[in-house]
Amino acid sequence: QVTDTLAKEGPSSPSYDWFQTDSLVTIVIYTKQKDISLDSVIVDHQEDSFRVETIIKDYSYLIHIGLSHEIQEDFSVRVIANVGKIEIVLKKKESTSWKSLGHPLENHNSLLSKKDTGLYYRKCQLISKEEVTHDTKLFSVMLPPSTHLQVPVGQHVYLKLTIAGTEIVKPYTPVSDSLLPEFKEPVLPNSKCIYFLIKIYPAGLFTPELDLLQTGDYVSVSNPEGNFKISQFQEMEDLFLLAAGTGFTPMVKVLNYALTDIPSLRKVKLMFFNKTEDDIIWRSQLEKLALKDKRFDVEFVLSAPTSEWSGKEGYVSPALLSDFLERSLEESKVLICICGPTPFTEQGMKLLHDLNFSKDEIHSFTA
Ligand code: FAD
Ligand code: NAD
Repeated sequence: QVTDTLAKEGPSSPSYDWFQTDSLVTIVIYTKQKDISLDSVIVDHQEDSFRVETIIKDYSYLIHIGLSHEIQEDFSVRVIANVGKIEIVLKKKESTSWKSLGHPLENHNSLLSKKDTGLYYRKCQLISKEEVTHDTKLFSVMLPPSTHLQVPVGQHVYLKLTIAGTEIVKPYTPVSDSLLPEFKEPVLPNSKCIYFLIKIYPAGLFTPELDLLQTGDYVSVSNPEGNFKISQFQEMEDLFLLAAGTGFTPMVKVLNYALTDIPSLRKVKLMFFNKTEDDIIWRSQLEKLALKDKRFDVEFVLSAPTSEWSGKEGYVSPALLSDFLERSLEESKVLICICGPTPFTEQGMKLLHDLNFSKDEIHSFTA
């Protein structure tokens, strides 16, 4: 009933089917959409629940069943984008014939508005934790073998820990393992690993607990969320990134994606605001990237520099921005991304509007 009502307002409801051989069970989802990718499908097999969430614009189509027979831990997911079809191939534990796929669980076969669906979590193992600056670390966590999940560019996830008997949840933005492919050997195949740059606040609620985790410990990771759309990059020629402190995190994947996947791109400039030189995340990687790729430039601005600092100083200001935001051509199509502490982002947004950039030309990363 719910499905029918929503389907009239949103995209037409997907459907699914399944078939089997002696050793395999294939679930096929017909999304009736063309712009789906491996990012659009999240699969989890936990205990008695088999769950496939397909993200279609602002909606989520759920398959949620208790399978009738046991399956092996790993499965494969394929997307046939031009016909909007998703195939999930499960391996049977025993080669018996299944009479049914299983029994329906909560919200099975329904299309729900994303804002009405709660966050789903799976436990991930901490694989490594490395110092990046005096207070920021690169955490890498591994998805369970029975999960398929890819975090889209510009989106964040929630991490959950139980602290003194209470579940605490905070958002974090996955990054790539480095800005330069040769800089670091990935710990695991990238599709199974999620990397985070996280600043530890000694008086904070969540991060000191996160910092106590040792390799092999578990943290729960939610499905991705966020309103950045890759389509904002279409035909983009100049990309300007304004980041303050850990507000740098969404810029990492945005930068990598822009430099590799946007043919129209001419220029990417990052203005990175920090308190001191010691606070700059991945400074040497940023400088190396600027040397390697002529399209990329980085400028550091410090709000509490030592007397030795000869670079730019202060908070975000009209003078800093008007110099920095120069288009490579008069009519260049631009995108400006901004992220950092709330007062930084609010002030930056106001200055951008004063400089006559339109809403379509600006994306601010917020909660
Ligand atoms: P909190 O308990 O929130 O405290 C943070 C600091 O504020 C501490 O220094 C604390 O002493 C101080 N403080 C707390 N309350 C007060 C108060 N009332 N008055 C004055 N000071 C106070 N962070 C990252 O490091 N990496 C990321 O990739 C990242 N991504 C994010 C994505 C999104 C969408 C959002 C919204 C935030 C993101 N953050 C990220 C920030 C992150 O979610 C947490 O806010 C951060 O880790 C702090 O959490 P905490 O519980 O440790 O600290
Ligand atoms: P920080 O305290 O180290 O400050 C970094 C810089 O921000 C400063 O050098 C200054 O230039 C600027 N700044 C700070 N306070 C300012 C103010 N009142 N007015 C103008 N500019 C100011 O920053 P941090 O501890 O790394 O915090 C980063 C912030 O970014 C956090 O609040 C975090 O929640 C946020 N964040 C948000 C997202 C998101 O929304 N998607 C993602 C990552 C981080």
